[in-house]
Amino acid sequence: MKAKVYFINPHSRTFSYESGLEGKFENFLKGFDLSAYIARDEVVPIKMHLGNRGAFRTIRPQFVKLVVDAVKSIPAQPFVTDSVRVPGYEYLEIAKNAGYTHLTLGAPVVLADGIYGNDSFKVKAGELLGEVSIASAIHDAPSMVVLTHVKGHIQAVLGGAIKNLSMGGVSFAPRNDTWQHGRGRMHFLIGDIMEWDESKCTLCYDCMNVCPMECITFPDDKYTVDNANCWRCGRCARVCPVEAIAVPITHEIFMKALVEGAKAVVDTFEKRRILYINFLLEMQPECDCMPMADPPVAQDQGILISDDPVAIDAATLDILSRVTPLPDSRAADITMKDGWDIFSLLHKKDGKLQIKEAEQLGLGSSDYELVKVG
Ligand code: SF4
Ligand code: SF4
Repeated sequence: MKAKVYFINPHSRTFSYESGLEGKFENFLKGFDLSAYIARDEVVPIKMHLGNRGAFRTIRPQFVKLVVDAVKSIPAQPFVTDSVRVPGYEYLEIAKNAGYTHLTLGAPVVLADGIYGNDSFKVKAGELLGEVSIASAIHDAPSMVVLTHVKGHIQAVLGGAIKNLSMGGVSFAPRNDTWQHGRGRMHFLIGDIMEWDESKCTLCYDCMNVCPMECITFPDDKYTVDNANCWRCGRCARVCPVEAIAVPITHEIFMKALVEGAKAVVDTFEKRRILYINFLLEMQPECDCMPMADPPVAQDQGILISDDPVAIDAATLDILSRVTPLPDSRAADITMKDGWDIFSLLHKKDGKLQIKEAEQLGLGSSDYELVKVG
């Protein structure tokens, strides 16, 4: 049987709340049987990415609140969560400034791996990762709703449900352990330090400014990393405008590792206990973990809902293969090609590889039925 992916289009045909995206999403949630996934009185993580300082194109609090209200109506007890992406205390401040607070959402905002980012459980993963540590508030949860702001990603190509599960569900720094069992491992599978090409470096210091751990310095104009404190997040390499920093990974190995991470997270739940909601809104070229935002590369496309992470991301990429690149965006000069989505063309890598690897690993199915519900 095909996986169902529900689709709410972004258009408003009349001047009424009910005809707009927010109203249609609320209406959908009211008619949708969330209790098929979440049992009465359960404490339920609503997993999302809370952004970064300057990364303001995340999911608007109004939409998150609708999901909180829907979970509460079961009745169950939602909390909004992510694992730490920048140091935990700072991340909570970022969340508050983005409008994600108990007061605005109606549910507590909690760091899934604690304020220090080391509250996690080690579980078995695939052949590349071996073992990974899952953020405890996700590991211990009986059910979950995964809200994903769809965007591009220089390494994963698509920042969709699979990436949200994997990079956000796997903790950064397991207690009494090294980054080797955290999410940094996905970036560092064929080596454990970055390589720096001095001849390419222009000393722009973008890498230093973007490092969440402030562990890059340039003594005598030489890129130097405090390896003991480095999270292996790879951001320094991603932002380097001249590719002077190389992370020891290939696209193929990264995609496989990313999917293994997602599978390890999903395997801590019973079957059909996670619901995924992708917001194809304000789709910027890069991840919300970067300390900035860039104009969207395509017009808003709406909201997708499914209980299959592969189906929802496959549907997302299919929609993104039919969009028109927006003028004045980073994708403005891209010519769309049959079978290619805008993020794969922008990042010059095959985003569908995520889907293929995920399907092979049994994370879900790319064979879906799109059900238009608004
Ligand atoms: S990988 Fe780069 S950006 Fe990330 S923590 Fe290490 S030095 Fe900083
Ligand atoms: S971002 Fe690249 S070019 Fe700029 S200082 Fe760092 S290594 Fe050098």
